[in-house]
Parts: sequence; structure tokens; C-alpha cells
Amino acid sequence: RKGNVIITGASSGLGLATAKALADTGEWHVIMACRNFLKAEKSAKSVGIAKENYTVMHLDLSSLESVRQFVDTFKRSGRPLDALVCNAAIYLPTAKEPTYTAEGFELSVGTNHLGHFLLSRLLLDDLQKSDYPQKRLIIVGSITGNTNTLAGNVPPKANLGDLRGLAGGLNGLNSSAMIDGGEFDGAKAYKDSKVCNMLTMQEFHRRYHEETGVTFSSLYPGCIATTGLFREHIPLFRLLFPPFQKYITKGYVSEEEAGKRLAQVVSDSSLTKSGVYWSWNKNSASFENQLSQEASDAEKARKLWEVSEKLVGLA
Ligand code: NDP
Repeated sequence: RKGNVIITGASSGLGLATAKALADTGEWHVIMACRNFLKAEKSAKSVGIAKENYTVMHLDLSSLESVRQFVDTFKRSGRPLDALVCNAAIYLPTAKEPTYTAEGFELSVGTNHLGHFLLSRLLLDDLQKSDYPQKRLIIVGSITGNTNTLAGNVPPKANLGDLRGLAGGLNGLNSSAMIDGGEFDGAKAYKDSKVCNMLTMQEFHRRYHEETGVTFSSLYPGCIATTGLFREHIPLFRLLFPPFQKYITKGYVSEEEAGKRLAQVVSDSSLTKSGVYWSWNKNSASFENQLSQEASDAEKARKLWEVSEKLVGLA
């Protein structure tokens, strides 16, 4: 049978390119988990994904209620689940004030981390039950959260501190809207959320790899400077960022190439090792990359897991 893969945020950018790459192999049925149903349908058509190779299902990660509904609907569909790709994200670098999810968490961390945390926890038993030879859970990371890299050292740097803002509910009322309890900064909130994604992947690996046989991975696909992720940025940035990445840092990858990379992490038989943060070198060969000290801090990962469980209502 075909494999079934859920990809969040498959209506644009990396998620769409990955959906296309997997669907085109003829070996995968892609469940596009998207907040905008019509946009997802149009996107699938526009890149030519064959009708029989995808299903759009509604998921708004900025609402835990929507996450639970999505999981119920998916379970009732009776489809086995063989791979889950947590890809969707928002980036609000110019926001002056925090905005919030339905449950009142700062929007970047609430969507990118907490929404995906609940989704992947609720779907883990489906992955475990699948009889597919290789079951995988992938959480897309980023270089920007990694302070051991040049890109990760552009201020404001990611820093989760002692998680006091998160533990306080990240609601800007009786706690800060930032994980570390500091002043709101939209660019930092995104980077912090990516550190959470990478810590969560490793904590999943420690807690569940042996027991479930599921492979847990994260990756940095390269700088895909053309995606919608930068839609909130100032126009001059949006104009200069792609050529800067192409010619100066040379970290630029096309959406198509990045989609092929993520598709490898989903299905390539050589990328089965669990607990790995994948990157690609200049010749587009994959390698196991190192994470920054904070993004590989096991104690922080455990604490983040426990605080997140409380916030999403799992503990
Ligand atoms: P895009 O903005 O193109 O794609 C993000 C997707 O997430 C969109 O489909 C968007 O939906 C969806 N999304 C946003 N909010 C929600 C929500 N509340 N519920 C459901 N879906 C939502 O950006 P990219 O393709 O660049 O980003 C994809 C991933 O790649 C992210 O995890 C990002 O951190 C990561 N990444 C990107 C890099 C880059 O250079 N672009 C580099 C490193 C990592 P909609 O289509 O409706 O807007």
C-alpha cells in the first residue's frame, strides 16, 4: 500500500514543495493539514499534485480545539498514519505588540511549538500502530535558533532562559509573552519557537524511540528565501533577502530543492536514524548536524516537555 503522510502548512512554501515531491513518487498519499482549505486545494492544483494523491484536512494550529478536532477527524477516516511532518510556522519580525492564539498563548510559540506539540502527542499512537516498515515524526527546525552558527548569532538571539514566561502561560497578562520572561520581540519569539521544535524532537526520541520504533528527526532545509515566511517583513528586506542569500551567504535553496530534502527525511531509506538534526552540504548531500548548546540541552528539553504538557492540557 501507499504510505500516508500528514504535512502541516502544506498550502505554501516548503510544505507544498514536500507534498509535491512525495506525491510524485506515487508511493505516498499526502494529507495536507491546512488552515485555509481553499488555498490548499488551489495550491495542490497549481503545482500539479494528482487528485488521488492528496486530501486536504482543516487544521488551525493556533487553536488547540482545532488540533483536537483535526486529530478526531483523521482518526475517524480510518487511514493508517505512517509519517507526520510538523512544518507550518509563522514569523512576525515586525510586530510591535504580541498577538495570541485562541487559548491566549503568544502566537508564534503557540502555533509553531504548542500546536505541534499537542498534535504530535495525540498522533503518536497512530504512528506506533502503523504496520509501515519505517514510521517517522519530523519537526522542521531552523538554523536561526542555533546560536552555534553565524545565522543563529544575528540578534535577537534565541534564548529560552529558565522558561518562566512559558510556565506562567505566555499570555502577556500575569506572565510575559516571551518564554524567557523578557520584553516581547517577534523575531526572537520565532527563533525561540524553533529551539522548542528541536528540543521537542530530541525529547520524543529519548522518551519514545525504543518503545515505539518511530524515527524522530528535525532538519534545516537551507535558506528558502522566497517563501511566504517572510511576508510580514519590511519590503526592502523582502527585496534584498533572496539575492543576499544566493550570492553572499550562498545558503539559498529553491523551494523545490528544500522540498526534496524534507521528502528524503520522510522516506529515504538511508535517513532512518532517530534523534538526528539533518542538514545538507553544498553538494546537496545530507549529514547529521550539531545543534547549539541550548538546542541540545536535555534538562531544558525535559522541562519544556513538562511545562508544555500542562499548557496544552495533557498533564
Ligand atoms: P510559509 O509561510 O511559506 O509556509 C508556512 C505554512 O504554515 C503556510 O502554509 C501557512 O498557511 C502555515 N500556517 C501558518 N499558521 C498556521 C496555523 N495557525 N495553522 C495551520 N497552518 C499554519 O513558510 P516556509 O515554507 O518557509 O516555512 C515552512 C517551515 O520551514 C517552517 O517550519 C519554517 O520555520 C521552516 N524554515 C524555513 C526557512 C526559510 O528560509 N524559509 C528556513 C528554515 C526553516 P497559509 O498558507 O494559510 O499561510
